[in-house]
Amino acid sequence: MTEQSSRQIAIIGGGPAGLIAAERLSAHGHGVTVYERMPTLGRKFLMAGRGGLNLTHSDDREAFMARYREAAGWMSSWLEVFTPADLCEWADGLGQETFVGTSGRVFPQAMKASPLLRAWIARLEAQGVQFRLRHQWTGWGKGGELLFNTPDGDAVIDKPDATLLALGGASWPRLGSDGGWVDMLRGRGVEMHDFAAANCGAQVAWSEIMKSRFAGQPLKTIAISLNGETVRGEAMISEYGLEGGAVYALSTPIRKALATGYPVTMTIDLRPNHKIAEVTERIASAKKGQSLANTLRKAGLSPQAIGLLRESGDLPAAPADLARRIKATPVTVTAQTGLERAISSAGGIARDGLDIGLMIKALPGVCVAGEMIDWEAPTGGYLLQGCFSTGIAAARGIEVWLGLQTQPEDLAVSEAVAGEGPQAE
Ligand SMILES: Cc1cc2nc3c(=O)[nH]c(=O)nc-3n(C[C@H](O)[C@H](O)[C@H](O)COP(=O)(O)OP(=O)(O)OC[C@H]3O[C@@H](n4cnc5c(N)ncnc54)[C@H](O)[C@@H]3O)c2cc1C
Repeated sequence: MTEQSSRQIAIIGGGPAGLIAAERLSAHGHGVTVYERMPTLGRKFLMAGRGGLNLTHSDDREAFMARYREAAGWMSSWLEVFTPADLCEWADGLGQETFVGTSGRVFPQAMKASPLLRAWIARLEAQGVQFRLRHQWTGWGKGGELLFNTPDGDAVIDKPDATLLALGGASWPRLGSDGGWVDMLRGRGVEMHDFAAANCGAQVAWSEIMKSRFAGQPLKTIAISLNGETVRGEAMISEYGLEGGAVYALSTPIRKALATGYPVTMTIDLRPNHKIAEVTERIASAKKGQSLANTLRKAGLSPQAIGLLRESGDLPAAPADLARRIKATPVTVTAQTGLERAISSAGGIARDGLDIGLMIKALPGVCVAGEMIDWEAPTGGYLLQGCFSTGIAAARGIEVWLGLQTQPEDLAVSEAVAGEGPQAE
């Protein structure tokens, strides 16, 4: 076990952001206690493991950062602190070697989270981290104590030397992160942006025939476009609309477009690898008397794609016009699916309320990490990478702050941060 310092740090939230911060702080000899409201740690992390645990992505630096959209500028500061390469090395160190899949996504060889989480918790315990499960944080007492709700009643923990909040976003609330902390922080003057579903499905008012024949079936090799953004990939037809990677990746522009109050129509290219002229030629070469369904099938459309095409209204007879429709089938989105089943959430603590050590400006000694901060990214490993990186950055922020509490007064904040912490944008 590492020699303990006299500094006591409370980490609230036992997801990847909180646990990686606990690892860093305990490795540096601090006394760390992790409080988690659920009976076990890392439930959402384990859920991510069901899809193979896409830990990060092998994109080059520029492409990687661009995935964080508006947040790219300042997220890059934290991503530099703990890079995708660092994350792979860390997983390797826990006996979970990673590999790069064909799409560039990075996974552990085991393609699940449980062995990694088990080894991780064992490492944390060996480093002296204490765990208090079934401890739901409910706020601060008058003297800065931490208040918890536990199965044995209310618990009051003396004010720690520093606190790290890693309470997660608001998607899949049954896994533990339900955004229930928002009012507590707002009440303390912390600027927050409302949560919204991210990486979520799009609702479409399908006909009964579309629902009954195609719900649960994939649309493979398509490209979906909205407002100048195009994403290639797959989607899954569901009773209420479309799910899947290509739709999730467009959830930010869809959300923004829906917010205008105008109808949102995206277009789907059902033959993205073929030019209009090629599709036209295939249609035009149909034998006389051949049914439209057969013509479309011979033009390379799956039954699901034909179903989707038919949903777009009467089909033009002229081959060139029909080809144009196949290359840009309109689909009107009525709403997005809710937070309950969204992979992640947008919104949370506003960046402006944080300093460069991810400390809440209004609450000195309290840092934040992970999905509870207002940044968003598509699926592809960018979410977990963002949580790990901000977890490390917040741990550094705490160390710098703790150092300043005991340093001679002539040590300016900027000097300490320049040597240790991430750079400001
Ligand atoms: C189905 C699914 C699949 C996913 N797949 C991937 C993937 O393959 N790759 C990827 O990069 N990302 C994936 N994600 C997203 C990723 O899992 C999350 O972004 C990540 O877990 C967020 O980490 P976090 O530590 O910020 O929060 P969380 O993992 O949500 O952890 C926060 C913790 O805080 C606890 N907590 C909340 N409030 C309190 C309170 N008041 N008191 C005490 N404890 C509290 C919660 O119980 C929770 O355990 C997936 C998500 C889902 C839902």
